Amino acid sequence: MSFKYAERLELLPRYLFAELDKIKSEQIAKGKNIIDLGVGDPDLPTSPEVVDALKSAAQDPANHIYPSYSGMDRFREAASEWFYKRFKVKLDYKKQVLSLIGSKEGIAHFPLAFINPGDVVLYTEPGYPVYYASTMFAGGTPYPLPLTKENNFIPSLDGIPGRVLEKAKMLFINYPNNPTSATADETFFKKVISFAKRHNIIVAHDAAYSEIYFNEKTHSILEYPGAMDVAIEFHSLSKTFSMTGWRIGFACGGEELIAGLSKVKTNIDSGVFQAVQLAGIKALSLGDALTEPLRRVYKNRVHLVTSALSEAGLKSFNAGATFYIWTKLPDSIDSISFTGRLIENAGVVVSPGVGFGKSGEGYFRISVTNKEDLIKEACERIAKAAKTL
Ligand SMILES: *Cc1c(COP(=O)(O)O)cnc(C)c1O
Repeated sequence: MSFKYAERLELLPRYLFAELDKIKSEQIAKGKNIIDLGVGDPDLPTSPEVVDALKSAAQDPANHIYPSYSGMDRFREAASEWFYKRFKVKLDYKKQVLSLIGSKEGIAHFPLAFINPGDVVLYTEPGYPVYYASTMFAGGTPYPLPLTKENNFIPSLDGIPGRVLEKAKMLFINYPNNPTSATADETFFKKVISFAKRHNIIVAHDAAYSEIYFNEKTHSILEYPGAMDVAIEFHSLSKTFSMTGWRIGFACGGEELIAGLSKVKTNIDSGVFQAVQLAGIKALSLGDALTEPLRRVYKNRVHLVTSALSEAGLKSFNAGATFYIWTKLPDSIDSISFTGRLIENAGVVVSPGVGFGKSGEGYFRISVTNKEDLIKEACERIAKAAKTL
């Protein structure tokens, strides 16, 4: 028998990273030594305190039942306490906080709550592929806002055509930004809020990297006046506490936006395993005591890479946040050819910029989620490969 995929799947772009994975597997099968700086998945383990919290919670039968849909009160309260400590914003955890099975899950389901066919969803590009995919799944029309060196990787909201704005109902932003590492300041967030109010647009801010900063603390959009009327923010314990595999995060923001997302989720999932929520509470309550050591490690690694690449004559960029380095390629080669060749000839995996959207062409992304000696070795190999371009 042969079944055709639903049209919504046919509408998704080619998954370029899968093709690189294939080249990578071929090289590994040939016995080649590969250093992977492609995926953004921390090599640093989750703290033992958090692991212990999970262990004891898992042993308690009270945690073996279905969790509540919106998250344990205690988890949402811990999230709001963490939020207040960090951003000085008070959240009513019963109405303004929702637990998520990782923030990706929340981002993927959010458009289903508010987007009808024909509605436009604005999103920054290059970016996390989920903004585009979730828009398509909801029947919406994605409209990319290019992030370029010229605009300091901050979207220009003034240049959006009126006919697009008329249909626009949602805007995805993501700061600190994956893949460009750019951060946003108060001026930008305030501009976004007034833009959203003027055009009746929901702002969905993906703040997965809010805690991965090296100099100045980054901001939540909810710090600024009026944000609660128009914005929802997605937070994740994944990068903040090295907990990517645990699948826990939370959404916070305007009550009706949280209620809409909650309505979708109630019909799809049944919440986060309580033992994982209790481990999450442990992480949130320890807070910076767990995150600060991670920041120190990433900061050193980022410095290691940017200095090695600059010595090799490559222009690389990290804005003092995220564990990514956004690196310019010479005009003579496109990002797919470069990354393919880099795996084959140098045994180093990085992510091609175009994999995050067409404005990412001409760049590649390095993730410093690997051991220092391997990062050093990879930089030497990249430098050598760049010479032969
Ligand atoms: C890692 C990441 C996420 C989601 O992480 P979860 O593990 O699902 O919480 C969301 N947005 C961006 C940009 C990311 O890089």
